[in-house]
Amino acid sequence: MHLYIHVPFCRSKCLYCAFLSWGYDPDLVSAYVPAVCEEIRYWGQALGRPETATVYFGGGTPSLLGLADLESILRTVRDHFAVSPEAECSLEANPDSCCAAGYLEQLPGLGINRLSLGLQSLDDADLAFLRRRHTAEQGQEACRLARKAGFDNLSVDILWALPGQDEAKWRSELRALKGLGVRHVSAYALSIEPGTDLEKLDESGRINWPGEDDQARMYLQGLECLQAMGLAQYEISNFAGPGYACAHNIGYWQGRDYLGVGPSAVSCIGSRRWKNPSDILAYCASPVQEARFLYSAGLSLREQANELIMLGLRTVQGVSLAAYTGLSGEDLLAGHEDLIAGLEARNLIAVDQERLRLTPQGMLVSDSLIPCFFH
Ligand code: SF4
Repeated sequence: MHLYIHVPFCRSKCLYCAFLSWGYDPDLVSAYVPAVCEEIRYWGQALGRPETATVYFGGGTPSLLGLADLESILRTVRDHFAVSPEAECSLEANPDSCCAAGYLEQLPGLGINRLSLGLQSLDDADLAFLRRRHTAEQGQEACRLARKAGFDNLSVDILWALPGQDEAKWRSELRALKGLGVRHVSAYALSIEPGTDLEKLDESGRINWPGEDDQARMYLQGLECLQAMGLAQYEISNFAGPGYACAHNIGYWQGRDYLGVGPSAVSCIGSRRWKNPSDILAYCASPVQEARFLYSAGLSLREQANELIMLGLRTVQGVSLAAYTGLSGEDLLAGHEDLIAGLEARNLIAVDQERLRLTPQGMLVSDSLIPCFFH
């Protein structure tokens, strides 16, 4: 299984962000840490000290947690889960909150062996537009410090399809990543999420978005540039050097069990799925609620089979036809012959004896393609 720990604090809200986060408040952190430890203890005991292949601190801004808090959470994890010494243990960090003297240097000693930095851009004007709290230089410095602190497994998040961004600018952004020693890149197109300030700004009609054709070219050029840097695509938005693909996210895409702890975290174990309360005060007041597990609805076989398609088609390997048949008792391709022939002719999908997968061109339109295969 895989263990996700949601750390729901941020110093301020970025323009585009729809993730659950609360303004950083030391009192709230003091309530959160024991609550999340209690939840970890509970599940470790309820599930019989299960083995976890990965531990992932996501957020929010996990690097807002002090070293003592991280240590206390990780100690609780080790006390109640079987974590192998080779387990991938990731921490998401923002450049403005991880560069204090000694912070990055001490993370490896706590067992954190993968750092995922929220760089988002290497252009000061874009960073200001996105309401990020760091500059391009601070982002680069955070990468240098992370490498110096011993983080070989260093990942960065970067946004593309930004207002005013063209192909040349996107390419130069990616080139700037070259010297930073990153082993993994998550590159997401900036999208408008409901309820965000970006949505309001977009409604005002004042945003100069790149056109659809420009975005398609930027996506394909991004693949080429990252490939040339030795970072191969393994999922729609994720690229890694050999051996540096994120084991935690691969676990999600391969449909393995995962336990999410913390406010709003989602868990999926067997056919059972549940979500923690989003409200941090409600969560801290009752981090463990047996009813969540006992009464949450199980997924039907149909839902599980469609999820296998949805997750598998996000990856470069695609979905295993045998796994689909094993789960649903049906042939994934049956009834889709005309659709498949049409999509193959347009170079959007590829099918062989074992797998169905999206081509790079297909990944560009994955949101509309994937549901076509649901039964
Ligand atoms: S730092 Fe990340 S989680 Fe926090 S507001 Fe910005 S994008 Fe959202």
